[in-house]
Amino acid sequence: MASPPSPQDAEPPQAAASAPPLASPSLPVVETFHSLQGEGVHAGRSAFFVRLAGCSVGCPWCDTKHSWPEAVHPRLSLGELARQARQAIKAGAAFIVITGGEPLQHDLAPLSAALEGLGPLHLETSGVDPLRGHFDWITLSPKRHRPPRAELLAACHELKVVVHGAEDLEFAQAMAALSGSAATGPQLLLQPGWNCPVGQALAVAFVQSHPDWRLSLQSHKWLGVR
Ligand code: SF4
Repeated sequence: MASPPSPQDAEPPQAAASAPPLASPSLPVVETFHSLQGEGVHAGRSAFFVRLAGCSVGCPWCDTKHSWPEAVHPRLSLGELARQARQAIKAGAAFIVITGGEPLQHDLAPLSAALEGLGPLHLETSGVDPLRGHFDWITLSPKRHRPPRAELLAACHELKVVVHGAEDLEFAQAMAALSGSAATGPQLLLQPGWNCPVGQALAVAFVQSHPDWRLSLQSHKWLGVR
């Protein structure tokens, strides 16, 4: 004799069959490319970049303003991004960089899970949004007009401050003080604003007299590559 149906068996079978298919997870992407990391601690190394769309931070000097609006950029599935990253790693990329835009405007946990095991995963962020996802290296580039969250100051491996004027040096020191001790905190870098002789002179003079800091140059711009 058949046993009475359990509450699970009693579910109408057509409910599961008629459910709409789940959309595959995706993110708005400005571009992906395999090049050399141009700036920061890992400058000069082969890297695969994923530039995500979307940023509301509004830096006046931003060189990727085309990345600000999300809707004008296509969405790529996480599977497709993993496929491209795998290919780039095979072709010599030493690590994968998630950049933007401001990548943390998105929940990056699914993306970091999709890329796990392919190669070291780096993140470039201004730190204004919550940290979601797992990264092997976090470059925090804080902005004076939108200071970063404490959790990003604590989690970053590299603190890179763009210098246009003397007030940026004060900001850089304040950020460094909040980010940990010289022994346990991030590596400290000053990066002159592009085409900004004042920022360049200030950054060079500061680094000369502060041995904990080093200079970062946007070598990809000097080389004319992405
Ligand atoms: S955070 Fe980055 S992408 Fe956003 S405006 Fe500033 S420099 Fe541009």
